[in-house]
Amino acid sequence: MVAGKQKTDLTGRTLWLPRMTYVGARMAAASFRSVGICADVTPPSDEKTLELGGLYTSGEECYPEKVTIGDFLRIVHAEDFDPRRTAFFMPTAEGPCRFGQYAPYMRQVLDELGHDDVPVISPTSKDSYDGLGENAGELMRTMWRAMVAGDIIRKMLLKIRPYETRPGDTDEVYSLGVERIASVVERRKISSRRKIADIVEALVEIRDRFRSIPARYTKDRPLIGVVGEIFCRLNTFSNYDAVRKIEEHGGEAWLSDVTEWVWYTNWSQKANLELEGRKFSMTMFGAIIKNAVQRRDEQKLLTHFAEDFQGYEEPHDIYGDLLKPAWPYLPADGALGEMVLSVGKGIYMYDKGADGIIDISPFSCMNGIVSEAVYHTVAADHDDIPIRNFYFDSTSSNMERDLDIFMELAVSYRKRKQKKRRYPSCFG
Ligand code: SF4
Repeated sequence: MVAGKQKTDLTGRTLWLPRMTYVGARMAAASFRSVGICADVTPPSDEKTLELGGLYTSGEECYPEKVTIGDFLRIVHAEDFDPRRTAFFMPTAEGPCRFGQYAPYMRQVLDELGHDDVPVISPTSKDSYDGLGENAGELMRTMWRAMVAGDIIRKMLLKIRPYETRPGDTDEVYSLGVERIASVVERRKISSRRKIADIVEALVEIRDRFRSIPARYTKDRPLIGVVGEIFCRLNTFSNYDAVRKIEEHGGEAWLSDVTEWVWYTNWSQKANLELEGRKFSMTMFGAIIKNAVQRRDEQKLLTHFAEDFQGYEEPHDIYGDLLKPAWPYLPADGALGEMVLSVGKGIYMYDKGADGIIDISPFSCMNGIVSEAVYHTVAADHDDIPIRNFYFDSTSSNMERDLDIFMELAVSYRKRKQKKRRYPSCFG
């Protein structure tokens, strides 16, 4: 699980996590802390991120890799950097996507800089996260719960912020919520039952603060589904805060969350086991149990938000709700990764009454390019709902230029759409 030759010894080290989303990374760091690993989130990305990322990449790499490496190298180039007290966290994945190269490349860069003593912790589902040591089970369960809680409060933020009457209120409650939940997650030596009860208590407290934000809910804002490459769509630095731009253009964004990816990898694992003739194996049994436990934990947290998320319900069955509808365009047994999720989620959001779908991806991202190739047909089969790819890199994006036009199309579609939205009770 360590990229390169080092052993996993995190004693006395800070494990730095990339901020794909601040809330996700903060929750993951809190989860590591809950099992005694000192973990922290890399500071907010800035010009130095791009400068260092540009110095240590050739231009062929994906934009998220440039941002992640740049953020890690800011730690390495800091005046107080101590290689004996530093480690980096970079998960990896199997398959055709370039994401699998991020961790080995970070290892190579550190080695070239003479820091072969700095570990790159790179968990993979291939070894069932064995490398996380004896606390792997507890860590993974805590991280899952924290991830779900993080997705929930981000969803509350995006649902309320466009309608707040005092600018800044929702962001403030959100920031408080991130810290409140992280403080509960990171508590050590707490039983599993007590841990989820504490997370529920914190979530409910934050939910009530969200609910009390002064807001004027109106039904005239187009609802824009946001899908695409996971890092770029969630990392506000990489996408120039695309969701806020949608809001500034009069829309409300429904952003695809992080947990969707976990449900997809669970499905993939089971599909692969079947392909290998291991449908009736202990590995399959373990995968089914894990899926059921994760679903139960998710329900325990989500149930307190049923009223808030009426009309914004996330898919319950990753195959039936996303992969199957996407199959005629991109069959999930051949087209692997986020491209099928983007197409499936776009169709799912169409069914929920969204007024347009935006796909956010880095320039040259294979997922974005493949999904773009089928969106025209997807739209034609679904009442010509506007679907548009926006691409990002460190210098530009076509979103600035084309968002006005896209929002006009969404407003026009809204007047003729067949699929009506359901609204939470706060909309009256
Ligand atoms: S999804 Fe796209 S941007 Fe992300 S690693 Fe893969 S190819 Fe690169």
